[in-house]
Parts: sequence; C-alpha cells; structure tokens
Amino acid sequence: MADTDTIERLVQEALPWIIDIRRDIHRHPEKSGQETRTAALVAARLAELGVEVKTGYYNTGVVGVIRGSRPGKTVGMRFDMDALEMDELTDHGFKSTIPGMMHSCGHDGHTAMGLGAAKVLMGLRDELAGTVKLIFQPAEEDAQTGGGAQYMIRDGALEDPKVDCMVGMHLWPDDMLGTVGTKPGAMMAGSDPFIIKIEGKGGHASLPHRAIDPIYIGSQIVSALQSVVSRNVDPFEQAVVTVGVFQGGSRYNVIPETATIQGTVRSFNEEVRMLVRDRVIAIAEKTAEALGGKAVVDYRLTYPPLVNDRRVYEKVKACIISELGEDKFIEVARAAPGGEDFAFFAKAVPAAFMFLGYRKPGEEPVQPHNPRYDFDEAALGYGVRVFVRCALDLGKGD
Ligand SMILES: [Zn+2]
Ligand SMILES: [Zn+2]
Repeated sequence: MADTDTIERLVQEALPWIIDIRRDIHRHPEKSGQETRTAALVAARLAELGVEVKTGYYNTGVVGVIRGSRPGKTVGMRFDMDALEMDELTDHGFKSTIPGMMHSCGHDGHTAMGLGAAKVLMGLRDELAGTVKLIFQPAEEDAQTGGGAQYMIRDGALEDPKVDCMVGMHLWPDDMLGTVGTKPGAMMAGSDPFIIKIEGKGGHASLPHRAIDPIYIGSQIVSALQSVVSRNVDPFEQAVVTVGVFQGGSRYNVIPETATIQGTVRSFNEEVRMLVRDRVIAIAEKTAEALGGKAVVDYRLTYPPLVNDRRVYEKVKACIISELGEDKFIEVARAAPGGEDFAFFAKAVPAAFMFLGYRKPGEEPVQPHNPRYDFDEAALGYGVRVFVRCALDLGKGD
C-alpha cells in the first residue's frame, strides 16, 4: 500500500509539471462552455500519461479513466475548467493573454490538480483497487444556462463505468495553506434567481383610481417577501431572500404600465429550497391579484444546495488526516453561501466536497472573482495528495 511518504514524494516530483500546466491554462482563460483549448490540453496530457480518454460530454467536457489492478469501487473526481469575463490586473509573468478573460476563481488550479492526480495515480496503478474517473467539467460559472455539471451527467459522465462516489475541491481563500476542510451535510448554498414582472395599468399620476399602479404593487411584494424567511422557514433552518433589482417608471408624474423585481434565493436543503420557491411565487401572484394587477414569476431552479454525504465525508476526512496530518484537517463550521454546481454530482451519487486552503500567515488573501485574484501554487501539492489518497482509499470500498 502506498504510504504517505511515497505519495508525497511522487506529488513533489510532479509539482513543477502541474504548475507549468496551471500557468499555461492561466495564460489562456476560456469562457464557460467554450473551453476548447483547455479541453484539448487536458485530453492530450491524459493521453500522454496513458490514461483512457473520453470526450463528447457537453461539448468540451473530458473524462479520464484509470483502471486499477484489482476490482473495487469507481471513484469520481470533478475538476472545473472555465474562467470569467473580466480583465486581469495581477502583475505576474503568466498573466492572461486574452483581453477581458481571467482565471479568477482558481479553476486553472483545479484542472492542473486533476492532471497531477492522474500522473501520480498512473504511477501507483499496481496499488489501485477499482477505477478512478477524472471528470473535467466545463461551465461551472454559468448558472444561467444551468452549469456544466448537470449536462455532463446527462451526457453519461457518471456511467460506463458507473461512478459509486465522488469528491471535489475548491481553492479556498479563508483557510491556511496546506489545510483541507470539509463537513457533513450542507457545504454550499443552493442559489436560485427569480424575476417578477408586475403588470398594471398606466395612467396620469393625478388619477390613480383610473390606473393600476405596478410600483405600489411591487412595493407590497418586496415587503411581503421578507416574511418568507421570518414567518415560513423553520427558525432552525437558514435561507436568504434578496431583492437586488426594482425597476419601473420613466417620469415622476406618470404611473407606469409595468415594474420588474429581480432577486436571488439561497438555501441549504431541498425542502427549504422548494418551500421558499412556492412562497415567493404565491406572494407575488396573490399580492398582485389582490391589488388589481398581475405578477408573472420566472423562478429558476439553477444550482441546488451542495450536500455532502455523511459516509463519504467520514472517509474523506480520514484521507485528509492520514495524508496531511490531524492539524491540516479543518472541520468546516458553516456552509458557504455561494453556489457550486458540484451539487448536481452530489445529488446523483454520494459525494463530498472540500475546501483547499492557500492563505499565508499575516496575509489577507484576495477573494475569487477579483481582478487581482491569485493563490499560492504550493496549495496544489496538498490538493493532489488528498485526491490521490481518496482514489486509493475510497476505491477499496468498505
Ligand atoms: Zn467562481
Ligand atoms: Zn469556482
């Protein structure tokens, strides 16, 4: 059985290669769903390593399959590949060469870790039980089209061979370098946007009785939406309902025809998620109706809450501790309010998601989605070690 020293040595040997790949991808960031260069790079590196490569998952998705020397479970690992539409303002030598595009969420690091894990695992194949499926996913950042994860699942990424359990990881600014954190249950929020279009009847400001005022109706809806969390959600559960847009009117003395409200809902389990959706729709429709207008609600269920399976969590926790040591494991106290489409994988198969720390003592890390975002590449080595350990230990089964 590969011990920690062997894995650490193999990862250290692979680290310059992993960092080169990370910088190559960083220089060439690609938009969600258009990761063609990155996908080609991933497929080429996997093929060079002798990994079986499968393509044709949601356009740019790539799957690498590593079969161990004896039977066992199939362990899936997800790595996202997309960048964000923004200019990079860092001053390092491997800065984005594509104007208006930047890897500011660390997905370049995630993809490089996936290839690093493939390289190390190919060297440990004799000791590998079961199968490892490396799932390189497009469009994590694109919640508006539903995210790449669910379309990779639709296109068969979890079949042939069938994935028994999954792990995933995100570089995490708030945790110290070398640590890996996780928790049982809710890990990240479900994130669902809504648009409410209020239809009234326009008219002269001095004759409100002859009009139906969509701004007044909208105001009542915005107020009433605050009752969803305070009056409908169990006080021991959590949810957020935020209205971020309220638009209507063109002149101070005109009652407009329509008004629009847009907002987002965060939730941490499916029950609360559906309760909030039903209440938002009912409040908007019934309030508008009671006040003589009409509300048309476009409520989109995009990323579900990311919920870690307790058994996979226990195993992953044991992997982190045996590979990096007790002091490097972080029991994450609270779910993060951001959305993450790994949630679709975690709904399909038992899974656990992890946070990979890169914060240095005394340094205030730059948060993701910032034009000056950067992470310490030393974190990648710790991440790859945990992925390799998870492949070896989870592949053995119970
Ligand atoms: Zn992001
Ligand atoms: Zn991200």
